[in-house]
Amino acid sequence: MDFDRARDIVQEMARCHVTGISFTAGEPLLFLDDICKLVQLCRENGVYSRIVTNGYWAKTREHTDRVVSRLMSNGLSQLRLSYSRWHQQHISRENIVHAALSSQKHGLDYFVSFVTDFSKEDDSFEQFLRDHHLKFFPEPVIYFGRAGEFDCQRVSTDYRPNVCSMNPYLSPELDMFACCDGASRFSKTHFLYLGNLCNNSIEALFRKCETHVLYHLIRTMGLTNMASYLGFRAREIVQYRRCELCEKLFNSKENLSILTKSATSDLINWRR
Ligand code: SF4
Repeated sequence: MDFDRARDIVQEMARCHVTGISFTAGEPLLFLDDICKLVQLCRENGVYSRIVTNGYWAKTREHTDRVVSRLMSNGLSQLRLSYSRWHQQHISRENIVHAALSSQKHGLDYFVSFVTDFSKEDDSFEQFLRDHHLKFFPEPVIYFGRAGEFDCQRVSTDYRPNVCSMNPYLSPELDMFACCDGASRFSKTHFLYLGNLCNNSIEALFRKCETHVLYHLIRTMGLTNMASYLGFRAREIVQYRRCELCEKLFNSKENLSILTKSATSDLINWRR
């Protein structure tokens, strides 16, 4: 996507009352000059901005200070640093410390997104963050894409509703999806695909996202109730992570057809 197009999209999103934009997927800070201008545009339009980065650029404290100071002066709202035993095979964990300390120094809100499969192997990585007093939040690894080959441990959770707020995602090819996982998980039904900006306005795609009755039920009723309606047993439901359950429900033409037909009648009134 070229810069002019990105600038127009940010402005159009602001007109559609988008309140926050996250620059992510790939490494946004490879394009530091452009990102600074887009962040500044967000600030001018009252839009909260976040950059998700792996911190490849934070090799020394001096250079990191310069980058963070620039992001800060352009109005960045938050820096999110991706960290895991997989990321850190390629990037020194000292980079994460540099970026966090520079953020603290310049008063930039940050947190470390600690991607983990909750195995013991990750204990030393978590301890490193604790030893350096860094603000972090554990994020479960998503077993998809490159991570699809990882050993996926089964987890049983409590019987939670699995509600999802669904943040729309725009790809560099200008395809818009109802959530950031929509591009990869739903190959059989394309359930979360909203359309391409070449032949739709942003406003039309947002409207589609806001008025889709099944998306509305994902945000309010939650996936667990919908799975239960379809006849999934409780002992099966508790074994799925939220996005896995979403994929089970909506990447099946049969399930999707049942849920679509019942969305405004039996399903919406369904009580276990
Ligand atoms: S639960 Fe479904 S809608 Fe929500 S992020 Fe996961 S795949 Fe997307």
